[in-house]
Amino acid sequence: MTTYEDRLAAFTGRVLVERRFGPDPVNVPMIRHWCEAMGDTNPVHLSDEAARSTGRSGIVAPASMMQAWTMRGYAASTTPADIGAFDELVALLDEGGYTSVVATDSDFDFHREARPGDDLSVEEVVESISAEKRTGLGTGRFVSTLKTYRDAAGEVVATQRWRTLRFRPSAAPRAPRPRPAINQDNEFWFAAAREKRLVVQRCTECKTLRHPPGPCCPECQSFAWDTVTAGGRGTLYSYVVAHHPPHPAFDYPLLIAVVELDEGTRLITNLTGVTADDLAIGMPLEVEWLVADADLTLPLFRPVAPQEH
Ligand code: ZN
Repeated sequence: MTTYEDRLAAFTGRVLVERRFGPDPVNVPMIRHWCEAMGDTNPVHLSDEAARSTGRSGIVAPASMMQAWTMRGYAASTTPADIGAFDELVALLDEGGYTSVVATDSDFDFHREARPGDDLSVEEVVESISAEKRTGLGTGRFVSTLKTYRDAAGEVVATQRWRTLRFRPSAAPRAPRPRPAINQDNEFWFAAAREKRLVVQRCTECKTLRHPPGPCCPECQSFAWDTVTAGGRGTLYSYVVAHHPPHPAFDYPLLIAVVELDEGTRLITNLTGVTADDLAIGMPLEVEWLVADADLTLPLFRPVAPQEH
């Protein structure tokens, strides 16, 4: 049986890009444009006279232009002639989940300078594909290839060892959930939530329940209160489906609901285990605790399974 590793290993030594010539021979106008764009003022690239005074026969191309001579235009890269071993390797890496790519290093070895009139070609061969490595970007494999640049006579002008990392992008860590504004009046409610108890504040004078927490009874203005523990059942009183603005702590669309507890008070919460299409005002809901992090546990609500009500 051929394993994935075997199939990758079979690429070692394989020609990835067949020897191909650049669209134009090395020429003075392209050298001049390159030097202007790069700010390269070395006269051996710009003046035959200056180049001859250094013992050269005339202008030479900057070494950094080597790749430029053999690059094809954007249109050429989409023609059927392009489908080959390179695409096969990319498809195999995609199959392994290595869908992202970053160039890691390029190491040139120059055998001679390129001169106007040189008709340069490039061939690319796979040198190695590493075992799976863990990197800061994600788990992946280093793919090393050797590009060989030759003149029309087949003499080597330069070689380039080219290494890329093909990787599975790491999932971005979930952002922490926004902190509630906890104060002296509501701290008891979040403390109970950390113990997965849904409590409701109650006036000890007139026994009226209230939520959100506050220091004073809206019915009788008493400051005396205690709490009751709610049963965790209620119904959907109202809701909104939030698409925007996205916050990295949440999945979207985000279902934000007003739930009316069986005890009679209402609270704002998020819904879980349901999509927006299945929401209906009055639907029965029950609490489900979200342990957001070490300091924050919050009540979410999910639909009660049909057989349970
Ligand atoms: Zn009261």
